[in-house]
Amino acid sequence: MFEIFDNELNNLETIFDQVKANSLDFLENLADRPTSITDLSIPATELANEGPGALGGLDLFKRHYEKLMVASPGPRYWGFVTGGATPAAIAGDWLTAVYDQNTQSTQGDGDVSAIIEKEAIRLLCQLLHLPEDFDGGFVTGATMSNFTGLGVARQWAGARAGRDISREGVAGDIVIMAATPHSSVIKSLSMLGLGSANIVRIQTPEGREAIDLADFEQQLEAHKGRPVIVNCSAGTVNTVDFDDIKAIIALKNKYHFWLHIDAAFGGFVACLPSHRHLLEGWEHADSITIDCHKWMNVPYDSAVSLVRKEHNKLQISTFQNSNAPYLGDTSDNFSYLNFLPENSRRFRALPAWFSLTAYGRNGFEWIVRNSIERAQEFGSYIESSENFALVAPVRLNVVCFRLKKDIEKMPAFLKELNRRGKVFMTPTLLSGQSAVRAAFVNYRTGKEDIAIAVREMEEVFHSL
Ligand SMILES: *Cc1c(COP(=O)(O)O)cnc(C)c1O
Repeated sequence: MFEIFDNELNNLETIFDQVKANSLDFLENLADRPTSITDLSIPATELANEGPGALGGLDLFKRHYEKLMVASPGPRYWGFVTGGATPAAIAGDWLTAVYDQNTQSTQGDGDVSAIIEKEAIRLLCQLLHLPEDFDGGFVTGATMSNFTGLGVARQWAGARAGRDISREGVAGDIVIMAATPHSSVIKSLSMLGLGSANIVRIQTPEGREAIDLADFEQQLEAHKGRPVIVNCSAGTVNTVDFDDIKAIIALKNKYHFWLHIDAAFGGFVACLPSHRHLLEGWEHADSITIDCHKWMNVPYDSAVSLVRKEHNKLQISTFQNSNAPYLGDTSDNFSYLNFLPENSRRFRALPAWFSLTAYGRNGFEWIVRNSIERAQEFGSYIESSENFALVAPVRLNVVCFRLKKDIEKMPAFLKELNRRGKVFMTPTLLSGQSAVRAAFVNYRTGKEDIAIAVREMEEVFHSL
């Protein structure tokens, strides 16, 4: 064996001790690390002929890059929808690399990792009170989950017109309807050849981001006879608005469209008895997207795609790796290979399985409730502030606000707030109005973090 590999395999303990020390240093000081770093210049290096080995690499990484790692898994990183990573999830993720499985088949000479993946999906569905009517698998994020659900929807729409789109390509008139689709839904439509510009936009009631049911039914009438795919939002990113799923299901029974629910983070409120009604009826959807690297606090990258079991054949005809003769019959020999976009697959289910098993129902209820409470606290501060104003009600775990006066100073305010590195938020547009957005999904965020953010905001405001 090449000497360096031989050495390292005989010194794994030394290597992992160092990695562990490094990990502890990061995780134990996360709250004090900056949430942004403005100077990200790094020296360009040349590929060595003689590499320094794992410890040498770690040393170089620490010297050049480690200090530039921002505290995005920390308690005050409120930009985008950024979750953290719980200890059990990190343990699972570490072991995912150690076991290094290519997770595929659950049958015959299959591998246990695919069976554990199915088990993780079952536990997640139990957490979210979803019945066992869905087949699920892990993908990299809600984008790929939306892509998967809409991909099977496309196959369904083709089948309704007597076409096999996965073989024959896209043609004909598939209708896609949505009110406030996430940008990744639009991206998925591009990737699927359905066209990002081909969405029939359903109106929203005043002050809402949800589907206006009267307009929706009118559009369904107008497109009668054509296959319709409806993308429904269970938690929009700006105001965490939910489409009225129960009413949409009633219309589905009449108009027979495909219902895809993007519940990337909003789906997790199903674990709270107080909020479960927001998802009432979602068990009747055709496909559902759930992100694990957001509110579930599993490290990147991880999401689940759920598609009704009755669409199994459609799903396999969409994703089968058909030109590989060694696969055998794909319908009675389940393998993720023929089920999701990727061929080779990481054992991505393990961190999720670890955290579901480690924290149970009460752990996740606590995380979701804690986020909502912190958002409400932060929202109350904005509401009572002389300097800031809410641009939307704080429905759940996202706060959108602006400066009360001198709106033109908003970009400068946000830039300075983020530059100071104590708290991180992102800009957004809400009905054409620019706003600052703070999303709460990290299990570490506590009352003291709200206090720090408020102090920062006051100081930055007065420095403008
Ligand atoms: C984050 C998000 C997505 C995209 O998810 P990725 O995990 O970034 O791919 C899709 N839909 C909603 C509602 C989201 O919040």
